Amino acid sequence: LNSDTATLHTDGIPQDMLVKVGKYLEPFSLSVEKLQEVSAQLQKDMIQGLGKYTHHRASVKMLPTFVRATPDGTEKGDFLALDLGGTNFRVLHVRVMEEEQKVLKMNSQICAIPQEIMLGTGEQLFDHIAECLSEFLDSQKLKQQTLPLGFTFSFPCEQKEIDKSILIHWTKGFNCSGVEGEDVVKLLKEAIHRRGDYDIGSVAMVNDTVGTMMSCGYRDRSCEIGMIIGTGTNACYMEEMNNVKRVEGEEGRMCINTEWGGFGDDGSLGDILTEFDKVVDKTSINPGVHIFEKMISGMYLGEVVRLVLIKLTEEKLLFKGEASAALFTPGKFETRFISEIEEPDSGLKNAKQILTKLNLKWDLVDAHVVRLVCDTVSSRSARLCAAALATIANRIRLNRGLDYLKTTVGVDGTVYRKHPNFSEELQAAVRLLAPKCDIKFLVSEDGSGKGAAMVTAVAQRLALQSRL
Ligand code: BGC
Ligand code: MG
Repeated sequence: LNSDTATLHTDGIPQDMLVKVGKYLEPFSLSVEKLQEVSAQLQKDMIQGLGKYTHHRASVKMLPTFVRATPDGTEKGDFLALDLGGTNFRVLHVRVMEEEQKVLKMNSQICAIPQEIMLGTGEQLFDHIAECLSEFLDSQKLKQQTLPLGFTFSFPCEQKEIDKSILIHWTKGFNCSGVEGEDVVKLLKEAIHRRGDYDIGSVAMVNDTVGTMMSCGYRDRSCEIGMIIGTGTNACYMEEMNNVKRVEGEEGRMCINTEWGGFGDDGSLGDILTEFDKVVDKTSINPGVHIFEKMISGMYLGEVVRLVLIKLTEEKLLFKGEASAALFTPGKFETRFISEIEEPDSGLKNAKQILTKLNLKWDLVDAHVVRLVCDTVSSRSARLCAAALATIANRIRLNRGLDYLKTTVGVDGTVYRKHPNFSEELQAAVRLLAPKCDIKFLVSEDGSGKGAAMVTAVAQRLALQSRL
């Protein structure tokens, strides 16, 4: 096993075929040296994002979250949580228990957000959210209470305070008009007041990475990084206040939402972008935005694979040169297929079923080649994430002047959870790229729900303490 490059599924592919296919897959393989370069670039971009006078032109935004402390175990109470930005929109009722040191999900409800709302007006979106919340409160008989609310809103926001949060731009599948540049808390409250059938207490705005970090922080006090590899990708971590030049104060730490998905938006990743990445970006609903994310996250991985498969078919290296209408249709090769095809035992069988469903005339070698393509694309994703995570861990270590850092990262997201070996590949690459850091990975239990409640609870505790 060569630890320097990812080990790929090449069995079942004749050597001459492997050489020809390899020519198209080569640009996806990133050596450790290349990953180190990526990490060094990200490190520079993070510093630019933190700087008072350089921030405005930074592609990695390094957004202050106004979360200054992780849980200390004295938090308690009942909270509402909203979760917008992943696969589903959810509303939750959460109880933080002081004695048992745990967070209970009392109840929750999923509301679909139809595509026409995801691409409609902001008013429609927030009316829809307020309506879902109203139905949930009815069903839980909570309408007469005014509970504090944690709003997990998983998009880049310029936060002014814990309850004032301005959307910079939409990402992933959302593009509602009239929200960019506006305060999301205000839009939510206005929608609730338009209805007039209930009210909410204080609001805390939370990025999903922050919720993830906080939900793990309740179990493991050394959890100071939160990472999402799902529909989108991102991470947050605890930064020293004296490095957070855009917020007053030198004491203590503040959680920074890196928005690493935007890495490369200034062209800095040009030398590792493949022709396929460029097409994915160009045909997305937000060209030029979140270049790094488009090489990594669930919203895009299936598309990258689909484009490679088309190319190999055109070159007569797959399906005897015959594609199908399905293969030419954007979105038809779903990201979850990658996980299914890479499954160690059932992968090849799954590949055959999926190719049949896509109306492709495959033979056994085709199935093996498709698996190799999936593996190549998912491995690159894992290794790029590793480079970014290693950058953060190394930064925390140097910030604290430590020879060796032991820390925990709270993780969530469908790609990380569902892919058969994504987490192992990521962890192996992090060990190479951050050799002086010992990083424990903790999969978050419902970070966007429970974590959001934790943030709200911690904010309440701190507000209370500062009044005493
Ligand atoms: C958003 C981040 C979010 C990430 C994971 C990205 O597209 O910009 O704010 O944390 O997706 O959901
Ligand atoms: Mg792989």
